[in-house]
Amino acid sequence: MLTIVSRCWLCQQSLYHPLHGICCYCRHHLPVLPLCCPRCGLPASHAVLPCGRCLNKSPRWLSITFVGDYAPPLSGLIKKLKYDGVMQLAPVLARLLLLRWLDAWRAGNVIRPQQIISVPLHHGRCWRRGYNQTDLLARPLAHWLGCYYSNKTLQRIRATPPQQQLKATARRRNLRGIFRCTESLRGQHIALLDDVMTTGSTLNEIAKLLWAQGIASLQVWCICRTL
Ligand SMILES: [Zn+2]
Ligand SMILES: [Zn+2]
Repeated sequence: MLTIVSRCWLCQQSLYHPLHGICCYCRHHLPVLPLCCPRCGLPASHAVLPCGRCLNKSPRWLSITFVGDYAPPLSGLIKKLKYDGVMQLAPVLARLLLLRWLDAWRAGNVIRPQQIISVPLHHGRCWRRGYNQTDLLARPLAHWLGCYYSNKTLQRIRATPPQQQLKATARRRNLRGIFRCTESLRGQHIALLDDVMTTGSTLNEIAKLLWAQGIASLQVWCICRTL
């Protein structure tokens, strides 16, 4: 008989809970987050009150939940999921985010969303890769939390050149009007999910569209946030 031994993606030890993908030891030894602003997620002197940057110009969401900085070992796992087709990593990373969100929820800092919306890839890019990693992250989260989720709710109407090469103002111009909503979101408490957040310009553009639809609240979730 063939026995499949599941090993921790980080230390290769065999797992007591194969579905977790990462052993307890490695999870507890992920890089510790500094004190971060609850709104923009950047290092700050207070973990409950918004930072000076946010008081000056706040992002279009009420809170952010993320697992860690975009740095090893998380960045390596995201690259495996995104570029090497290791789709089994999606629920593993989603679980890390769930645990982080549950901490914030128990502390009374976030509310349970009714609906999760994932940042869509353009059709072309999605097709070439065969899947959208953020969609794969959203599915287990929606299942565990009992939220509505459809990868059709938000659509990208046209492709954008990769954002990395552009300056902030060009990024924003580049994003204008490229998303559209396919269903009514009026009165909904929404969690908007992306795999990695860098400047937040894509999330801000989507947030603008969601508020215009009359949503009740918006929180952002991502696996990594560049610090
Ligand atoms: Zn391990
Ligand atoms: Zn802030």
